[in-house]
Amino acid sequence: MSITRRTLITGATGLSVLAVAACTQEPGPRPEPSAPSTAGPPRPTGMVRSAWSTEPFSRGATSFLPIGGEPADRARLSVPVADRLFFAGEATSVDSPNSVEGARASGERAAGEVLRTALLGERIAVIGAGVAGAACAHRLNAAGHDVVVVEARERLGGRVQTVRGGEWPVPVELGALRIGRNQPSAVRDALEELGLSVLDGTTIVRREASGDEIEVDGMREAVLARAREVASEVDFDIPLSTALARLAPLGTDSAENALSETEAAAAAVAELVGARSGALARQISVDPGLDEVPGGWESIVSGGFDSYIESLLEGIDMLRASAVAAVIYDGSGAALRLGSGESLSVNRVVVTVPLGVLQDDGITFEPALPLAHREAIASLGVGALDTLVLRFEEATWAESAHVWLTDPTHDALVTEWINLDALQGAPVLVGIVGPQGVSRLAALSDDEVIDRAMIELAPFFGAP
Ligand SMILES: Cc1cc2nc3c(=O)[nH]c(=O)nc-3n(C[C@H](O)[C@H](O)[C@H](O)COP(=O)(O)OP(=O)(O)OC[C@H]3O[C@@H](n4cnc5c(N)ncnc54)[C@H](O)[C@@H]3O)c2cc1C
Repeated sequence: MSITRRTLITGATGLSVLAVAACTQEPGPRPEPSAPSTAGPPRPTGMVRSAWSTEPFSRGATSFLPIGGEPADRARLSVPVADRLFFAGEATSVDSPNSVEGARASGERAAGEVLRTALLGERIAVIGAGVAGAACAHRLNAAGHDVVVVEARERLGGRVQTVRGGEWPVPVELGALRIGRNQPSAVRDALEELGLSVLDGTTIVRREASGDEIEVDGMREAVLARAREVASEVDFDIPLSTALARLAPLGTDSAENALSETEAAAAAVAELVGARSGALARQISVDPGLDEVPGGWESIVSGGFDSYIESLLEGIDMLRASAVAAVIYDGSGAALRLGSGESLSVNRVVVTVPLGVLQDDGITFEPALPLAHREAIASLGVGALDTLVLRFEEATWAESAHVWLTDPTHDALVTEWINLDALQGAPVLVGIVGPQGVSRLAALSDDEVIDRAMIELAPFFGAP
């Protein structure tokens, strides 16, 4: 019998778990930050939050590589079917998945595949008006095809969602808000052309609940490097949590200090990977999973990310609030069956819906997708991330750093706060809720979320 990498992985995971049974697989219950003893800082005057995991047209935040997942699964998902179905979306990007940049590139790639097959003037349906669908439709339209974008929601943008107007002093983002720094970026170029600014938040601070500053990133690189070494010592995939639990104490201090420093750095790594990938440390594979997670700090987009999508879709036929229930295809063409019962006949279809929608059969395919596609869909992971944005009357916080990190050894709901006062002069804080906090966030009422957030923010507001 031949043993494939996948059977090895499945067989070996149980063993690896046994071997480290004494170690922490996932951070257990941690102390919660306690409420400040005196009247706290002024409460926010407004709040918006996302719920990406429960929204029917996202069903998760981003894709990641779990144990057994490989970048090749992304490539398999992107292969056209019968020259009638084409696939785009962040989950199909091998080079920069989980990102706006990767989604854009995937849309361009899929458009190129259609252009190589389609006759001029063909009717092409693009399902989804996120970045991937918009980039794809833009290119097909420019090449002279008759394009229609079919979008389930009333709004455009998908996992780019800007809230603007009303009492918000600046547009705020509930989905993507950062782009890579120090690397060529087609999205950055397009944003700058549209007059949107890209802000480089350079100062970062991490505080523990007492308000004391904790060294940021001091041991992060060392911990990540050691986690990779631990993973390379076995010839099967292991999750990040297993690698972190197997770390020998790093540092030169006393044995006890070195151990607690290592544990704190490991918790910070798990938390940061979670905030970037949406994956818990027990879900994401070290190799190759971590290769896809941006390690550095990224620039923040200001002025409304949704303008980018709107600019790409200008002048293109749109069917909004039109969820596609089924895609029926054969060698001669394709039809979309909408949730409303209506049908739409086209020559070809580009599918850009999120991985979570494909995994949950949010759209059915007739005939069913080939096995390679179905396996690829099942092999990739869907992560959980949310955003919580608070608006204040005034910025009364004491902290001037651009990015604030909470204590990773406490059970904070919000991993990271972005200070729009420092970046844009607006009394607004944008909180990133990692996978450890998403279901807790969903279970809280708005008032409870604000209570919780104000407790966690106390170290950054300074003494009352
Ligand atoms: C909280 C959060 C923070 C993020 N932060 C960043 C960041 O800072 N930087 C970054 O680069 N990336 C970030 N990302 C990832 C980034 O947002 C995505 O990678 C990217 O927007 C995905 O684009 P897409 O076109 O592939 O998918 P989507 O934007 O999800 O577009 C898919 C579209 O398909 C539609 N659809 C779904 N089902 C149907 C159906 N049945 N019929 C018709 N239409 C349907 C959806 O409504 C949606 O409009 C973040 C994501 C989240 C959730």
